[in-house]
Amino acid sequence: TPRTINDRPGAATLTVTKGQVDYINVGFSYDEGGIAALDSISFTAKAGQTIALVGPSGAGKTTLINLLPRFFDATSGIIAIDGQPIDGVRLNSLRRVISLVSQESVLFNDTIAANIGFGRDGASRVEIEAAARDAAADGFIQTLPEGYDTNVGAMGNRLSVGQRQRIAIARAMLRDAPILLLDEATAALDAESEQLVQSALQKLQTGRTTLVVAHRLATVCSANLILVLEDGRITEQGTHDALLAKGGLYARLCQLQFFSDDKET
Ligand code: ADP
Ligand code: MG
Repeated sequence: TPRTINDRPGAATLTVTKGQVDYINVGFSYDEGGIAALDSISFTAKAGQTIALVGPSGAGKTTLINLLPRFFDATSGIIAIDGQPIDGVRLNSLRRVISLVSQESVLFNDTIAANIGFGRDGASRVEIEAAARDAAADGFIQTLPEGYDTNVGAMGNRLSVGQRQRIAIARAMLRDAPILLLDEATAALDAESEQLVQSALQKLQTGRTTLVVAHRLATVCSANLILVLEDGRITEQGTHDALLAKGGLYARLCQLQFFSDDKET
């Protein structure tokens, strides 16, 4: 299908020096003139910070994340990386600096090594295996009959959900991009996988500017800034302690230890 998002004539190459992300009064509608999926969204993610997005299903969390790699262009407002509005830069220079780990890991019907290597052109086997170790995936890969040369099947169906996620995390490790977008998984992971996935994700976030759709209290608590979204608007924002003290929606979600009723993507 033809691309709907293209480089503007004369688009510049994005240069990332720090990795600061700014959303300035951003609005977005999926349909022209339709209801706003996002309205007046403003926040700053300073270099290396983690911003957690919480809120009910349909609030606009995924939409907010998807605007950064320009899967869609904002209807109004400005999104900038290190001061450069993203609609004025070349798409491939923009996407090169972003890693995305989505709720449902997309794997190709190919080997484990190829699925991880997809994160960066020309990655060597040594680099692929190092990324897998960082993502707590090396252990289970070693137990497979053909190790890194094992075919994962269509959509990765020969692997468990937790294993697929760790492959996706390894891919993001290998990519080594300064900006990380994370749609935290709510899919049923067994306790061991969940712990492994969590620690792999924490490692991945270190030193990267991260926007995370968070479902777990641990992720939310440790964020530098929490944005509570409802109906496309930020209704509360602050740190965990500040929002708890406020006694609003965030405080209620905390009591339930549950930050979204998202089931699948
Ligand atoms: P969340 O991730 O917080 O559950 P989403 O960003 O997926 O919320 O959705 C925000 C709103 O936009 C919802 O009303 C949803 O129905 C709508 N929406 C999401 N994706 C699309 C799409 N591709 N086309 C039209 N509407 C969409
Ligand atoms: Mg979502």
